[in-house]
Amino acid sequence: MEIQTPTATVLIVDDAPSNLAILTESLRAEFDVRIATSGAEALRLVDESPPDLILLDILMPDMDGYEVCRRLKTHPVTRHIPVIFLTAKGDVADETMGLAIGAVDYIIKPVSIPIVQARVRAHVELKRRGDLLETLSMRDGLTGIPNRRRFDDSLERAWRQALRSGTPLSLVMADIDCFKAYNDTYGHMAGDECLRAVARTMAGVLKRPGDLAARFGGEEFVMVLEDTALSGALYLAESVREAVEALGMENKGSWVGDVVTVTLGAACTVPAPGQSPEALLGLADRKLYEAKQAGRNRILGAKAI
Ligand code: GH3
Ligand code: MG
Ligand code: MG
Repeated sequence: MEIQTPTATVLIVDDAPSNLAILTESLRAEFDVRIATSGAEALRLVDESPPDLILLDILMPDMDGYEVCRRLKTHPVTRHIPVIFLTAKGDVADETMGLAIGAVDYIIKPVSIPIVQARVRAHVELKRRGDLLETLSMRDGLTGIPNRRRFDDSLERAWRQALRSGTPLSLVMADIDCFKAYNDTYGHMAGDECLRAVARTMAGVLKRPGDLAARFGGEEFVMVLEDTALSGALYLAESVREAVEALGMENKGSWVGDVVTVTLGAACTVPAPGQSPEALLGLADRKLYEAKQAGRNRILGAKAI
């Protein structure tokens, strides 16, 4: 699977323009450098687009660096961004405090440029490895789409969100028809290629940011559709069914048709306290089973009551 690594972004926060200029100059050959002259501006920029590392001054008017760091460390989205304090406060107590708040490093001014460069480089590299691990652990190695673990996380999150907003949440389970026959006829390598094609097709049908297509296991896939009523889920399920059929991948061993097909089951609910996402998944699975029984290469769906 392809993992892209664009140039790492470093945010420099300092109220003194001369410091910003020197640091920017020393880092811009290697990094995409952004600057902020106050704590509030820094938080706003991080919120807009999280950087890979933050170089943070402590003594600033209004909000100081300690407070900026504290806020970043309490937020799940920004908690993992490494912060390096860069400050004139050189006491052991200051440094201890900075590290206790969650900074990964502490550099005392006046700084040596090569040391700043080396430490930034080292922490960006560590952050990158952490990100890569996170990405890999959430993606299915064969197809490149989100894996079961990511699906479990997404469902949990989507469920809570729908519970708060009172909006419908839909799930669609999909299973390739006669896939054992496909493997038996064309071999497992071809089977793997077929799984990739189906995964690509499914992911291609989904367009909204609140949609997720994941590999559930084996030749089964699942879609999480936020803020989507049953009609929308059935529409997407049918789009996937048609798109997979339209791939025209020959499956001689299939008794359903001449090409690879999928059967899908959809389930929708407006989550209420006391209900569980597992029950919704169970309903989608039951609908899939019924659609299989009814002949395969078709869709069925139901609302949870
Ligand atoms: P149905 O129409 O009822 O779904 O029949 P089926 O043959 O698709 O279902 P069955 O559950 O009998 O077979 C699923 C097959 O999927 C068997 C298994 O070898 C194959 N399979 C599961 N994971 C992989 C994989 O990662 N790669 C390949 N090539 N095959 C896989
Ligand atoms: Mg199956
Ligand atoms: Mg199957």
